[in-house]
Amino acid sequence: RKAVMPRPILATIHTDALTHNLARARANAPDARAWAVVKANAYGHGLERAFEGLRAADGFALLDLDEAKRLRALDWRGPILLLEGCFDARDLELCSRLGLWHTIHCNEQIDMLAAHKTLLPHRIFLKMNSGMNRLGFKPERFRAAWTRLNVLPQVEEISLMTHFSDADGPKGIAAQLSAFNAVTHDLPGERNLSNSAGLMRHAPELAQASDWVRPGIVLYGSSSDFPEHSAADLGLAPTMTLSSKIIGLQNLVAGDSVGYGSQFVADAAMRIGVVACGYADGYPRHCGTGTPVLVNGVRTRLLGRVSMDMVMVDLTPVPQAAMGSEVTLWGRSASGAVLPIDEVAHAAGTVGYELMCALAQRVPVLLA
Ligand code: PLP
Repeated sequence: RKAVMPRPILATIHTDALTHNLARARANAPDARAWAVVKANAYGHGLERAFEGLRAADGFALLDLDEAKRLRALDWRGPILLLEGCFDARDLELCSRLGLWHTIHCNEQIDMLAAHKTLLPHRIFLKMNSGMNRLGFKPERFRAAWTRLNVLPQVEEISLMTHFSDADGPKGIAAQLSAFNAVTHDLPGERNLSNSAGLMRHAPELAQASDWVRPGIVLYGSSSDFPEHSAADLGLAPTMTLSSKIIGLQNLVAGDSVGYGSQFVADAAMRIGVVACGYADGYPRHCGTGTPVLVNGVRTRLLGRVSMDMVMVDLTPVPQAAMGSEVTLWGRSASGAVLPIDEVAHAAGTVGYELMCALAQRVPVLLA
């Protein structure tokens, strides 16, 4: 029987980089405890794989009960926080059984808890909407929610939580932090504040105000406000590499076009490579000519439209490239050259978060 050659696409998750990035994030709030935010299957890295690199976290924050169960199955006995709380009364039973801590962001969740008599006391994170206008009680309603919860026998402890909308933007965190402090200054309970951007850009204010911080994207080596700040500027290492190989070569003459819609036209003779990676692998279709890519660790550019299973690349800067040459779509090449995921995301008009989360099921993943 002939050996089956797998299609050469591969995602590699770098455990040491996860560990490094967690330490880097922690250094900005050394006295606070750090949740590792691992929602969305650890931002596409795979919860079990990310756990390998993030064991030093004080807790794990996520959304799905299934993901919480998977963490407990890894024998994680420490804190797990459900960032959006429970969606259904039946979840409360499971929360108790798994020892989960959960967010309460609306009166319906308090009603649900109040109606639930049979459980062990719950550890609650009461969420304030201090300006993002996504989840949480407005500042003027926050204390009433706290008082309702505080008298419930189902509640063991109430922590206080908010989320910043512009920590990496011109608004910053000052207005939200002062709204939060004005309402909570005399309430007991731990303060649970801040995503990655707040932690990286406003460390002194935050470190002082927080018992817990909630970094997500920095753990995965990406910067939420690229190109103003790059991951490398923030001292972060890439945690996911998407790599493939050249599976075809073409020699173009002036006037030849490349790919669907003939979006790239050669103005002189050139050699191009065909790479086994397309939008069905999670590579963004919005990338076009000029998007950076590494061939044998050398920076070159994408040509034309991204197809479902392939992209074409310019081999001019890599004349020695051949069938089977290594292609790095993002992350780290075998030679150590880095192509930041944020650069590729930027070329597609999006952010690193989306690319990580969109890694397709069909891509095999290696834990390194
Ligand atoms: N905390 C909450 C409530 C979130 O929803 C998120 C992610 O959206 C985070 C923390 C982590 O954010 P980031 O990945 O930007 O660090």
